[in-house]
Amino acid sequence: MPPGNVYLVGAGPGDPGLLTLRGRQCLQSAQVLVYDALVNPRMLGYAPQAELIYVGKKADRHSLPQEEIQRILIAQARQGKNVVRLKGGDPFVFGRGGEEALALAAAGIHFEVVPGVSAGIAAAAYAGIPVTHRGLATSVTFVTGHLSGEDKTLALDFARFDPAGTLVCYMGVGALDQLCAGLLTKGWAATTPSAVVEWGTYARQRTVTAPLDKLVSVAEEAAVKSPAIIIVGAVAGLREELAWFESRPLFGLRIAITHAQQGNDTLEQRLRTLGADVYACPTVEIQPAARPEGIDDLAHYAWIVLTSANAARTVFAALDDGGHDARLLGNTRICAVGASTLAALEQRFIRPDVVPENYTSEAIVSAMKAIGPLRDEGVLIPRADVARASLAEALDDAGAQVTESVAYHMEVPVDAEGATAGLLDFAPDLLVFTNAAAIRNLSALLGDARQEELARQTPVGSIGPVTTRVARDGGFEVVVEPVLHDVAHLVESICDWAGERA
Ligand code: SAH
Repeated sequence: MPPGNVYLVGAGPGDPGLLTLRGRQCLQSAQVLVYDALVNPRMLGYAPQAELIYVGKKADRHSLPQEEIQRILIAQARQGKNVVRLKGGDPFVFGRGGEEALALAAAGIHFEVVPGVSAGIAAAAYAGIPVTHRGLATSVTFVTGHLSGEDKTLALDFARFDPAGTLVCYMGVGALDQLCAGLLTKGWAATTPSAVVEWGTYARQRTVTAPLDKLVSVAEEAAVKSPAIIIVGAVAGLREELAWFESRPLFGLRIAITHAQQGNDTLEQRLRTLGADVYACPTVEIQPAARPEGIDDLAHYAWIVLTSANAARTVFAALDDGGHDARLLGNTRICAVGASTLAALEQRFIRPDVVPENYTSEAIVSAMKAIGPLRDEGVLIPRADVARASLAEALDDAGAQVTESVAYHMEVPVDAEGATAGLLDFAPDLLVFTNAAAIRNLSALLGDARQEELARQTPVGSIGPVTTRVARDGGFEVVVEPVLHDVAHLVESICDWAGERA
C-alpha cells in the first residue's frame, strides 16, 4: 500500500468468511481502522496493529455525524497513514460509502473501494432464499426502509415494484407495516411468500416467514429487531427446501471453549462450521520449557511417547532450538496417541512406529510391547507440568527405564481475565473443556461465587475421564464425554448431545 490512502472496504454481512481476500489484505496493512456497529468485532483481529477508531452508535448517543467521519478519514490520510474504512456489507449499498468517496475525491486523497457481500444477498442466501430464480423472479429490487420526515413515512413509490420480482428491504424493521401495506395496495398478492432475516450469516441468525398479509404480526410476535433484511416474493418460499444454514447440527447453540489457542487448532473452527455460536475464552497457554530433560540426548532413548500435539510441537521446537533436526530421532521408536498428535508429527514428516487405540495406559503399553519387549528400554515421556503419572507407572511396571520430562507449562494467558469476565454474559448452552488445567485456571479466574453460578447454569462437555473428574470436583455437570479422547470425537459427541437435546 502506498502511504496516505483510504480503503473503503466492505466487511460483508457478519460471517468473517465472507470478507473478500482484498479486504483482508487491506486490513492486514492498515494503520488506522475506522469502523462502526455493523462490523463483526472478530474482524478487528485481522488488523492487530491498527489504531481503532469507532464511529458507530454508542449506548448513550448517536453515531458520529457523516461529515465528522469524513473529516477523520481525510485527516488521517493527510498524516500519511493507510486508513481502512470498514463498513458492513458493501460500502456503496445503503452505506453512505458514496458520500465518503466524494469527500475523499474532493480532498484529493487517493482511495480504493473494495466491494463487500451485501446483506440483502447474503442474509437471503443464508436463509435459503435465492433472490432471483428461473420461473419465480426475473428481477430483484433493493430498497431502503428508512423513514423520513416528522411523521416517519416510508417514501417509496410502491407502484414501481414488480410483483413478478423480488423485493429486498434494508433497514426496514421499523417500516415493516408501511412496506407490507404499500405492496398489498399495489397488486402484490396477500399470499406472497415473505421473510425477515435477523442477524443474517451470524450464528444467532433468526428467520421468520409468513404470507405478505401476515408478516407484520408474525414479526411482531417474534420481536424481530434490527439488523434485519426483509424479502418479499415467490422465491422466499424456496426456503422450505433450502434452509441449509439453520439446519446445521449445532445451529444456534452457544458454546464456550477454554481451549488453548494453537496454530492449527480446529476445535473452534469445527464448532463454528457446524453452526455453533462460539465464545473463545482460552484459560491456558502453552509455554514451551527451556530445555526439556532428555531432549539433547534423544538418541539414547529406545522410545519416545507423545500423548499430545503440544508435546510433539514442543519437542520439535526444543530440537530446533538446540540446533538439531528430526534426524536426532533416527534410532528412537515413536509412540503417538491421538489424531492431533499424529497430525503434528505428519507435518514434520514423521510416521510413528506405534499408534495405540486409545489414551489408556494399558492400550499404550500393550501396543508398545507388540513391537518388542520393554524391559530395560529407555522411554522418554515429554509432557505438561501438570500431567498424571499413571502412564509412567505402567511403563515402569513393564520394566522400562522411564524418564518423564516437562516439555511445556500450562499458564494463564495475560488477557484471560477480560475474556472470562464476558463468559457469564454470553450464557453458554455448553461449556467445553479439553484439559484439566483449563478448569483449574478458569475457577481461579472466576472466583468461588461466579464459578458456582456458572456450574449451576451450564452443562459441560469434557474430552476425557481425567478432565471429567476435575470438572465434577468443580461442581460441573458433565453431559458430553466421547469414547475416544480427541477433538474430532469430542465434536461428534457434542453433535449427538445437541441432537438429543433438540
Ligand atoms: N452496506 C450494508 C447495508 C448498511 S444499511 C450492506 O451492503 O449490507 C444497514 C442495514 O443493513 C440494516 O438495517 C439491515 O437491514 C442490513 N443488514 C446489515 N447486516 C445485516 C445482517 N447481518 N443481517 C440482516 N440485515 C443486515
